[in-house]
Amino acid sequence: MRRTRRTGTAPEMAVRRALHRRGLRYLVDVAPPGTNKRRRVDVLLRGARIALFVDGCFWHSCPEHGQLPKANREWWRVKLHGVVVRDRDTDVQLTAAGWRVVRVWEHEDPDDVADRVLALVTALPAKPPPG
Ligand SMILES: [Zn+2]
Repeated sequence: MRRTRRTGTAPEMAVRRALHRRGLRYLVDVAPPGTNKRRRVDVLLRGARIALFVDGCFWHSCPEHGQLPKANREWWRVKLHGVVVRDRDTDVQLTAAGWRVVRVWEHEDPDDVADRVLALVTALPAKPPPG
């Protein structure tokens, strides 16, 4: 049986490895402080305040691969729409809490994803010197 919330899927692991190879460090499957504890972020880059989600094509209704199962079609339509609605609400909540939300599809090339995240991180203004 497919579950709605999985952590450490193969595509997510590939993205995490690609980030790690670029020297990026992150937390996995956590809710940032001050946000809904039930909306966990796949990959959290704390310093850069980036919340990265690797969305599964089926559950998150990828425009290329998201297909409704033939059986119980209407039930699935409602169910999967609910996932998308919740995703958007999670984005709003995280953005309000000062996080930059980055969503990628599980079908995307993990190195491309990691390059995009790295570009975001390096585009940040330099931290002021200590003291
Ligand atoms: Zn897809």
